[in-house]
Amino acid sequence: MQDSAATTANSDSARDRAALIHPMTDLQRHDREGPLLVTRGEGVHVYDDDGNAYIEGVSGLWSVSLGFGQTRLADAAYRQMRELPSYHLFRHKSHPPAIRLAERLLAIAPVPMSKVFFANSGSEANDTAVKLAWYYNNALGRPGKKKIIGRIGGYHGITVASGSITGLARNHADFDLPLPNFLHTDCPSHWKYGLPGESEAAYAVRLAANLEALILREGPETIAAFFAEPVIGSGGVIVPPAGYFDLIQPILRKYDILFIADEVICGFGRLGAMFGGSLYGLAPDMITVAKGLSSGYLPISALMMSEAIWEACYAQSGKLGVFGHGFTYSGHPVAAAVALETLDLYKELDVLGNVARLAPLLQQGIRSHAEHPLVGEARGVGFLGGWELVADKTAKTPFAEPGRVGLMVERHCQARGVILRALGDILSTAPPLIATAPDIERIVEVVGEALDATLDDLARGVR
Ligand code: PMP
Repeated sequence: MQDSAATTANSDSARDRAALIHPMTDLQRHDREGPLLVTRGEGVHVYDDDGNAYIEGVSGLWSVSLGFGQTRLADAAYRQMRELPSYHLFRHKSHPPAIRLAERLLAIAPVPMSKVFFANSGSEANDTAVKLAWYYNNALGRPGKKKIIGRIGGYHGITVASGSITGLARNHADFDLPLPNFLHTDCPSHWKYGLPGESEAAYAVRLAANLEALILREGPETIAAFFAEPVIGSGGVIVPPAGYFDLIQPILRKYDILFIADEVICGFGRLGAMFGGSLYGLAPDMITVAKGLSSGYLPISALMMSEAIWEACYAQSGKLGVFGHGFTYSGHPVAAAVALETLDLYKELDVLGNVARLAPLLQQGIRSHAEHPLVGEARGVGFLGGWELVADKTAKTPFAEPGRVGLMVERHCQARGVILRALGDILSTAPPLIATAPDIERIVEVVGEALDATLDDLARGVR
């Protein structure tokens, strides 16, 4: 339970504040209010230290797709722990879980992929993609072709390279990011950046033209790769305008720029297809996945690469004597075993079928709040959605103090037993893919109540 300053000195809450610095957290607010102590999870629910239940409406961090308490995943980890708890893939070593998982990923890849490289987080997978884009161009004798293009509003991670691809000011400010040679093109939000009267299709044409102009301005011979999520997640659940990727991809091909699809959120059924990119006809050169790969039960990520990239790595490592990249825990056997079991469960539980059946309910529910005075746009795809909150609905004016109202709505949801996540002033939801119709109806109902309660707070001047 969140508490006030009255907490006793040896409570978990006080000890938390004495010992921990929390990621992506308002550190001063945290010091005043303390943490929500989550002690247990079962199905779509988590429970706090007072035994209160919450629907986890964002699947943790968009990751716990199978919900909590899947004993099959625990058993898979236990079995692997006893068999071979840790080993690595360096220097010609291998082990069965990594081999099997790589094969499985290649078998379900949405476009032909040649090899899989394992890491531990989405950020590491994307850092690896940056390094491979550089390595690839070195192998091809194009040492000047190194710049990376991300998008404003895109999220690709938080390490020095992946954080530079991320296009969010809140992740750059005072961390001296982005690094030089990381560029950002337009955010694909038609609602936010479309001109008055401009159709989605016309907006997509304008964005594609802007991307091409950026490439020409910088010089195509300097640009290595373009990163995109099929639907932007942490940047505020931004669905691309109709036709967007159909226009972007030929431009990338024209200038020989690698396309890296970041499927860290969209992969494994979140949008209703195994890979989100399939909904938009993506044909990437590399694909990164994490989160849903192990249903968030253990840290593991993967990068799939095309045959052309593999061939370049192969040739280059022949010259250098070694492919000089890898993490101690690349393909960790326990994480890989859990990922394999996760992929089995997706199939056995017909998770894609559940998303297909219930996505209309969620999406209609999300849009049922579109007319609320605080909601500028209600949007989403599959089991992913968001409500963009605004001070003035018609003028689409953002709030003067960014993030405050989003947090108010988030808090009202939490007080009613639903955990959702405000990304600035965009309230987001990504229910576990095993959620039932009543779970979804409850999320939608609570969001309505929280919006009303927030409107009421604002009218009364409550902060
Ligand atoms: N890419 C995307 C699309 C993500 O949503 C995230 C995490 N929210 C990442 C990359 C980074 O993953 P991680 O936090 O595991 O490094």
